[in-house]
Amino acid sequence: MDTRNSRRDVVVVGGGQAGLAIGYFLARQGSDFTILEAEGEPAAAWRGRWDSLRLFTPARYSGRPGLPFPGEADSYPTRDDVVSYLTDYARHFELPVELDSRVRSIRTTDGSYLVELDERTYEADQVVVATGPFQVPFVPSFAEQLDPAVAQLHSSEYRRPQDIPDGSVLVVGGGNTGFQIAEELSASREVHLSIGSRQTPLPQRIAGRDLFWYLEATGLIRKTTASRIGNRLEGRDTLIGSRPRTLRRRHGVRLHPRAVEGAGRTVTFSDGEALAADTVIWATGFRVDHSWIDVPVFDAGGRVVHRRGVTEAPGLYFLGLSWLHTRGSALIGWVKDDAEHLAHQIATSQRSAHAPSQLREHVA
Ligand SMILES: Cc1cc2nc3c(=O)[nH]c(=O)nc-3n(C[C@H](O)[C@H](O)[C@H](O)COP(=O)(O)OP(=O)(O)OC[C@H]3O[C@@H](n4cnc5c(N)ncnc54)[C@H](O)[C@@H]3O)c2cc1C
Repeated sequence: MDTRNSRRDVVVVGGGQAGLAIGYFLARQGSDFTILEAEGEPAAAWRGRWDSLRLFTPARYSGRPGLPFPGEADSYPTRDDVVSYLTDYARHFELPVELDSRVRSIRTTDGSYLVELDERTYEADQVVVATGPFQVPFVPSFAEQLDPAVAQLHSSEYRRPQDIPDGSVLVVGGGNTGFQIAEELSASREVHLSIGSRQTPLPQRIAGRDLFWYLEATGLIRKTTASRIGNRLEGRDTLIGSRPRTLRRRHGVRLHPRAVEGAGRTVTFSDGEALAADTVIWATGFRVDHSWIDVPVFDAGGRVVHRRGVTEAPGLYFLGLSWLHTRGSALIGWVKDDAEHLAHQIATSQRSAHAPSQLREHVA
């Protein structure tokens, strides 16, 4: 058992793609740092996703600084490809990732930060929180009203069709995850999909080129939340490579509006229709949990107040959140842009005493 207290100039919390991205830049600038990862294996979030998952970003846009994603540039990597790539990435650059190191709290002490784990503590001048945009599975409260005879799981627990009990399935949630799980299950059973709010469908490929080629070429992927178009896009989710009509016609999935109530064996939709399904899969998203961070950088709704990840607390940063700065902020191939920005901030404040900056309030 390690009971020592250690000191680092910088502690990064979270060893996913965001933590590794900032790690790459910190290593390059010679910072004294460590990366603390809660789970026992690298790329934990990706390992927890379903077996057949393929990226919607092709290999050419899923690479990271210094080490391109292997394979054909126009191919769509699998979940396991991403796990291997991120594992190799940390190894290739000898990034100091400490596994099995869940951070329980961050608080301030005498001008620096105390980063507390179960059995040890780090003191650091600067801390980067890179614990992911998708942390706590969200399920609507009416799920509790369903009879125990109805099998229920969150999309984060879904791995493969064979694990789902026989019978009909209702997938709740009309985002990319809900569409992809519904399509996969439709090959072997009766599937219903409840779409709460329609997301804008975008084709994966247009005139032989991937969607992200266009987003990159037009600069849309890097439009910031401060720009008019970035601000408009921030509020809109997109459905990449799926369409309700295709799901219905080609895969026979029955579509329903928002699920609003559960009672006994039945889920009721906003149009008043009801359905008794044998299994309900909640593809209803995630919430962010920063309740373990005891530093006053949150608004009344618990959201981080920051400017491109830089908070009002000198030396405390956030990286990898959805729309931290742009659409690319939480994507594997673009998180490097914010990481490089934060690494620069860290180097600057290591060089000089941190003067309070004039923060424009932005919440994420
Ligand atoms: C189904 C799905 C498909 C996606 N497809 C794509 C795609 O095709 N292309 C793309 O670019 N993006 C995709 N994304 C989005 C994005 O790339 C991922 O969500 C990515 O995993 C986010 O990386 P991250 O490092 O910010 O967070 P995570 O990968 O979640 O990593 C955060 C890490 O922090 C650790 N952690 C959490 N709390 C603590 C703590 N207290 N102490 C220590 N460690 C902690 C976790 O164990 C985890 O390893 C997809 C997301 C989902 C959900």
